[in-house]
Amino acid sequence: MPVPVSQMWTVASYVVGQKLAGRKQYPLVLMLEPLFRCNLACAGCGKIQYPAHILKKDLTPEECFRAVDECGAPVVSIPGGEPLMHPEIEKIVEGLVARKKYIYLCTNALLLKEKISLFTPSKYLTFSVHLDGQREEHDLAVCREGGYDIAVDAVKEALRRGFRVTTNTTLFDGANPKSVRAFFDEMMDLGVEGMMLSPGYSYDKAPDQKHFLGRARTRRMFRAILSNRKKRWQFNLSPLFSEFLMGKRTFPCTPWGMPTYNVFGWQKPCYLLQDGYAESFKELIETTEWQNYGTESGNPACANCMVHSGYEASAVNATFSSLGGFLATVRATLFTSYKDEEALKMLDEPQAPIHPLIQIAPTQSAQHNLQETRA
Ligand code: SF4
Repeated sequence: MPVPVSQMWTVASYVVGQKLAGRKQYPLVLMLEPLFRCNLACAGCGKIQYPAHILKKDLTPEECFRAVDECGAPVVSIPGGEPLMHPEIEKIVEGLVARKKYIYLCTNALLLKEKISLFTPSKYLTFSVHLDGQREEHDLAVCREGGYDIAVDAVKEALRRGFRVTTNTTLFDGANPKSVRAFFDEMMDLGVEGMMLSPGYSYDKAPDQKHFLGRARTRRMFRAILSNRKKRWQFNLSPLFSEFLMGKRTFPCTPWGMPTYNVFGWQKPCYLLQDGYAESFKELIETTEWQNYGTESGNPACANCMVHSGYEASAVNATFSSLGGFLATVRATLFTSYKDEEALKMLDEPQAPIHPLIQIAPTQSAQHNLQETRA
């Protein structure tokens, strides 16, 4: 089941409206983090590294609504932390549905079966379940044995109750393209609506800094994974972002396209970096020195970044910026399977064993490793 036409129409008409109004910096998806607490301790994420007094904080539903109204983006992604641990998450979702926002509630699904009765199926609400690959790969990525089975069980229950369900997958260095493609088959067999993919990002609070990908390796890995694709695979990615990941296109980052609001305020400049906070969305847009960010800026923090939250909005913007962009999107959606003999051969290359579990603890060498990764 693809994204509903009403959602596509809402997003397309919003972007066209922004363009007609001459706005260069407009938000497409609000990244709303109502808390940082989580019931997992994934090696590639650093949210739970905050001190206890920060981890105890929650955004109130009213604070969430204010941010959503102020920002005006048609889509709201709710990551965290684990949003299902928020004591009023159902009120937040209800309020956003009432505002006709398309919500992606990003969850590791450990609590989904227990909490699912709090929610009502709606075209505005999608559970975006974090699954980083097949059973073994996912359990290693989230440092929890059995995590895959719990998440898959919850996906089945959510689908049985009539909810929209997608997956979100972060791929790190060492991901096995063949296994990732088998994972796509598994997810389509389950009946999820679409799959979102992103390369892992150099989130500098993450305990494991060794497995983030450089740009050239990212492109090669996604070329192997996404070329020669099966018709039945549905992706929750804009077609041009998928081509960007495969190295077929380049885009500048548009960090304002997916702004982040959390317990500190509006985060400058993006979901990954923390160069200060603004008190309002207007202040974020007007006071962030945007020219200092993105790969072209020469900022070392952006050197290897190709993440969804920086570049998906760039791809959507490209779709609506020219007739060529629009036609390329239509062509990619309807006709392209990206046949590529070289990419087929890559699937048979020997793979390094998947990386062992990483213990979560602040590492003194993290910053040093990060510099090496970006070299
Ligand atoms: S390139 Fe990545 S890290 Fe840099 S501003 Fe864009 S999204 Fe943020």
